[in-house]
Amino acid sequence: MPIATVNPANGETLKTYEAMDEQEIERRLQLAEATFRTYRTTTFDERARLLHRAADLLEEDQQDIARVMTTEMGKPVQQARAEAAKCAKAMRWYADHAEELLADEEPSASDVKDSGASHVRVRYRPLGPVLAVMPWNFPLWQVIRFAAPALMAGNVGLLKHASNVPQTALYLEDLFHRAGFTEGTFQTLLIGSGAVDEILRDERVKAATLTGSEPAGRAVASTAGEMIKKTVLELGGSDPFVVMPSADIDRAAKVAVTARVQNNGQSCIAAKRFIVHTDVYDAFAERFTAGMKALKVGDPMADDTEVGPLASEQGLRDLEELVDDAVRSGAQVLCGGERPDGPGWYYTPSILAGVTREMRIHREEAFGPVATLYRAADLDEAVLIANDSPFGLSSNVWTRDEAEVDRFVRDLEAGGVFFNGMTASHPAFPFGGVKRSGYGRELSGHGIREFCNITTVWHG
Ligand code: NDP
Repeated sequence: MPIATVNPANGETLKTYEAMDEQEIERRLQLAEATFRTYRTTTFDERARLLHRAADLLEEDQQDIARVMTTEMGKPVQQARAEAAKCAKAMRWYADHAEELLADEEPSASDVKDSGASHVRVRYRPLGPVLAVMPWNFPLWQVIRFAAPALMAGNVGLLKHASNVPQTALYLEDLFHRAGFTEGTFQTLLIGSGAVDEILRDERVKAATLTGSEPAGRAVASTAGEMIKKTVLELGGSDPFVVMPSADIDRAAKVAVTARVQNNGQSCIAAKRFIVHTDVYDAFAERFTAGMKALKVGDPMADDTEVGPLASEQGLRDLEELVDDAVRSGAQVLCGGERPDGPGWYYTPSILAGVTREMRIHREEAFGPVATLYRAADLDEAVLIANDSPFGLSSNVWTRDEAEVDRFVRDLEAGGVFFNGMTASHPAFPFGGVKRSGYGRELSGHGIREFCNITTVWHG
């Protein structure tokens, strides 16, 4: 895949980049290692001051960087602005909370005595240069979600961003430099995915995090496993959105539309499988279909556009294949099911009903504005369908019945259960999944501790 900005709204190549050569990669690895030696000794206050400055700069740049993101991957520009604002918020949150999240811990006095020590504490120390392999779908947020906690913990970052968002990738390096972080604290490596393996094997790189597809996750985790390096993986999702009879159906249907088509349907935590109790199935299906049909699809640079093009032609082809496979096997198209005429990689917001286990779309991630609708006879069947997926990222449930709440929390195989609302990440809450959605957690105290050397300090 060339490293290039190609506008998904019309397929036009706007800018191409040469991948960095071996000497440049070596220079940057050396710089990362040398920078870490001093950066690790900085105080939380110093790091926080720089991160606050980066957040301020990002807010100043909000309009411009939003347009860059939209040009590179096609998200509606108002969503790109919101993404930039969310990043600034997360940076400030980690700047303000890292010291407390990584404060020394003291075991209980009785355990300390039992060990024969006079005093014991647990200290969170940084690991070193961490490689972040990141996707294009939230080109700022996915990176900041890693970088803010990693830098606050005293690590330094090496970013290998997706090949179709090079301008955003370079912007990020520039942002941290302008904020005052020394040159090697956060570096962008303009490289193709083929160069990742060797970098990951380099002993100066201590750990890796990857957000993206299963094959990419598997490749990075295999090499990291061979090299005995820690990884965090945030891979795909096919989150269920369960609607029970006690739910506010109007609101559930309205939120269902946003939950499915946010980011042009290309979000790992987008609700993708809508599992509706038979008593409210028809009412929900009617409102959900009307909502999907009413969406404004068009130029992502226009402020009132709700759904723009998919980020790549390949992504569009993959989505079309999933829909065609389902329709060939008997799925009913309630709306959409086709690409509109004209330039750009658009796909019409779609709902498929009558989806069965044999269809690929039941088991694979539909990365675009396509929802699948299932009818469940009761709560047990709803849980069964929800868990019948290789993924387990998050889940959404609409119910006002407290007994049902307990059952869903107990039984859903996912890293999150969101009631009467849609899944959204927040800096203070852990984010990540189970099954083939990956492992490890981002955000919150759990996220910042992933790339720490948790050290027992024992005094006799
Ligand atoms: P990829 O997983 O291929 O890309 C994500 C990142 O991984 C990119 O930086 C990519 O680099 C890199 N990468 C790809 N293959 C390897 C490898 N073998 N070793 C090291 N790094 C690698 O995602 P795609 O863009 O191809 O999207 C395909 C599907 O992945 C989507 O349809 C969706 O299902 C899922 N996906 C999920 C995301 C999520 O948020 N969970 C985000 C993006 C995709 P490069 O760009 O240079 O190939």
